[in-house]
Parts: sequence; C-alpha cells; structure tokens
Amino acid sequence: MSALPPTEAVEARAIGAYLGLAVGDALGATVEFMTPREIQATHGVHREILGGGWLRLRKGRVTDDTEMSLALGRALLEQGIEAKAIAEAFSDWMRSRPVDIGHTVRRGLSRYRRTGETEMPPNEYDAGNGACMRTLPIALYTLGVAESEVEAACFLQARITHHHPLSDAATLTVTRLVQEALLGADVLALLARVEALIARHPEFAFRRRRVENPGGYVVETLRAVFQALFDTDDFESALVEVVNRGGDADTTGAILGMIAGALYGHEAIPARWLAALDADTARACREQALALLRRAPWAGAA
Ligand code: MN
Ligand code: MN
Repeated sequence: MSALPPTEAVEARAIGAYLGLAVGDALGATVEFMTPREIQATHGVHREILGGGWLRLRKGRVTDDTEMSLALGRALLEQGIEAKAIAEAFSDWMRSRPVDIGHTVRRGLSRYRRTGETEMPPNEYDAGNGACMRTLPIALYTLGVAESEVEAACFLQARITHHHPLSDAATLTVTRLVQEALLGADVLALLARVEALIARHPEFAFRRRRVENPGGYVVETLRAVFQALFDTDDFESALVEVVNRGGDADTTGAILGMIAGALYGHEAIPARWLAALDADTARACREQALALLRRAPWAGAA
C-alpha cells in the first residue's frame, strides 16, 4: 500500500479547495456575462475582488455556487448522503431569497416541492453546470470510499436538479480531480483523469480553440476551466485566466478555484483575496472543509 499523505497536508488542501471555490465565485461574479473585450475595457485585467457586476454584489459576497455547496455540506454533516435531506437543504436555500439562482435549479427544486421526488427524469436540456459547481462537499465527504460509491453520491446530489449524461460525467470528473489533488496528485495525474473523460465524452476536448464567453453549458464551462488549469502553474494565474474569459465567470471561477485550491493548497491563495472574502462565508468554508473531511472514510485510514 502506498503511504498516505499526512493529515495536516490533506486538511490544508481541503481548506484550499473550499476557499478556492468561494474566492473564484466572488472574483468571477464581478464580470459574469461580460465579454473578454468588455472586461478589458472596464478593468484591464480583472484581478481584484470588487463586488458589483450584474448582481450588484457587496464586495466579498459569493453567489449560488458557494451557497448551494454550503447547503449541501450542512445536509451531509447532519444526515449523511440522503437525497431527501439534500433536496430539503437546497429548497430551504431557495426560500432564503438567494441573490442568484439558475433556471434548471429552480425548476428542479420546484418539482421536488410539488412531488417529493428527489431525482429529475432524464432531460436533454439539463447539461448546465449547476450540479457540477456545488459538488465539493461530496468530494470531501466521500474521500477514501470506493469509486462506485463516489459516483453514486455524485449522481444522487446532481440529479436532484440536473439529469443528463454530460452533467453527470462533469460532476464526477470534477469530484475525482479534487479528491486526487487532495491526496497529493500532481497536475499530470489530473490531466490523465481529464483525458479519460474526453475518451468517453469527446465534447470535453479542450485543446481545439480558446474558449471565450463560456456559457452555462457544462461542456463549455469545463473546457475553459481545463485550459486555464493546464496552461498555468499557480492558483492566482489560473483563476485570473479563467474569469477574464467572461461568460459564466463566477461558475468557471468556482470550479477552477476548487480544483486549483486542492492542487496548490490554501497557502497559494492570495492573501488580498482571502481578506476581501466575506468573513462569515470564509469561516463557514474553513469549518465545513475540516468537518466533512473528518467524517470521510479517509480520516479513519490515516
Ligand atoms: Mn453564481
Ligand atoms: Mn454563474
């Protein structure tokens, strides 16, 4: 058996993943739905957490990407991997009048309230990025379980609102990228995982042309994330690269942030971004990262 990395190292990367998600969301939200040209004209290179954007956010405020992750994490900590508990947590969050909510998420949660069903029927329009963006708590909570159980947990949370093979594949891949990075994988190991995804779903091939204005389609989202992740070699460069492409920038930022945060660790996140992040959000992210990891089977093996 190969040696497990020290607990402290994995914890540092888990905190990095959660703060990376939040920082990516907060940085990207300022330029969500802008084109790269508009971003350039307004900000030069956008590299500071400022708030604003089409949602007129307070500086340091995060959006649905981080909030739904925190709701999912709370449900996991209270009741484990239970579809009903997770759907209720999402529904409670929707009731809290969130600053933003995706169309597919709203439709799925409205259906849950009407029918009590926790799995959407397969739908060709469900290939948005809304399930993938909130997968981090599953990655932490299932660290160390068999691949088939990670997959089952991913699909269970995803299909509450999104039921599509590309959403499923994207959600599982991002979850596994985070888990491998938490356990110390290097960037080449992550690239191999992405190439395995592309072998099954060629839509995700990301080398053909530069992605600008990535939309909510999870294939576009992940192509932009993979380009930024594999063409840079530190957290700040990767995140600046992806959000300056505009489009669904808070969500590309959130997904890139969770993977790069796990890969490079929280020490790699610029201090000015951590200082700008809403303090209650930052505290919740740190606490949940550790609490979820401590419940994971991995912790028992360490
Ligand atoms: Mn958002
Ligand atoms: Mn978004």
